[in-house]
Amino acid sequence: AKAAGRSAICFFDPVMQSRVSARAAMEADLRRALANQEFELHYQPLAGMTGELAGVEALVRWRHPERGLISPIEFIPVAEDTNMILPLGRWVLTEACRLLSRWANDQRTASLEVAVNVSAIQFHRPDFVEQVLAALSQTGARPDRLRLELTESLLLKDVEGTVEKMQRLRAAGVRFAVDDFGTGYSSLSYLHRLPISQLKIDRSFIWDASRGGHGAAIVRMIVALGKTLEMSVLAEGVETAEQLAFVTEEGCHYYQGYLFSKPLPYNELVAFIARY
Ligand code: C2E
Ligand code: CA
Ligand code: CA
Ligand code: CA
Repeated sequence: AKAAGRSAICFFDPVMQSRVSARAAMEADLRRALANQEFELHYQPLAGMTGELAGVEALVRWRHPERGLISPIEFIPVAEDTNMILPLGRWVLTEACRLLSRWANDQRTASLEVAVNVSAIQFHRPDFVEQVLAALSQTGARPDRLRLELTESLLLKDVEGTVEKMQRLRAAGVRFAVDDFGTGYSSLSYLHRLPISQLKIDRSFIWDASRGGHGAAIVRMIVALGKTLEMSVLAEGVETAEQLAFVTEEGCHYYQGYLFSKPLPYNELVAFIARY
């Protein structure tokens, strides 16, 4: 009776009701979009501290026939709630590996890496390792040019299973970064057990630092941690020359942000590299 009462409340709450149906509509729309190939990857260049191109991060967008280009911030959470992230994530991974395989034949691009965002739901699937290895072998991509970006909360769930999956992929050559580092609940006690090669400092700290906030101390702490754990450190969301000077001074190894480049559609990325 209690449960029925609760669902009755939900049913007659017009806000909740419209939210539920909006979500259901979005799920159907996602399914159709995947079949119609409406997703595309944009690529944000990653830079070394002296401005050399180090690679790109693949960022998914949805080219909706009526609504135009939709941000992942809008549809990734829905895709995660509905498990649509599984086929979508597999598509992103394969597409990124296709780019790596195209790049392998050109000496200007052969050393560049491609970073791919991995959702917790995707990573914690039992066949995740096999999926990544299949994407690599199907496309002929070099495993050591692929970097998977994981979040702190993902790493905290099922630590044993996580260690095992990461070690198997690492043994195949794949590298890992911790995304948005500093925003989650990282425990220093497990970080050193994981084969992580990069910490990506969340852009909120870079911004806070440039406004004189505590972000500066956090950036300093993450750089020191990276040094201790032998991980490179990348500063996210660098938009101004001042921010670049700051993260350079603090000892970051790489940066990413509008100052170097916005995320680019494939043809603009090709032009970016050619101009380079
Ligand atoms: P993220 O992984 O932290 O990606 C960085 C986001 O910051 C991107 O937003 C990028 O466009 C934006 N950005 C880069 N430089 C700057 C800057 O200088 N200033 C500002 N203000 N923003 C900057 P985007 O592309 O909208 O992606 C949002 C989030 O969606 C990503 O955050 C990531 O968590 C998620 N996402 C994107 N693609 C995928 C994907 O293929 N799979 C999964 N699971 N998640 C994805
Ligand atoms: Ca990322
Ligand atoms: Ca990030
Ligand atoms: Ca983020």
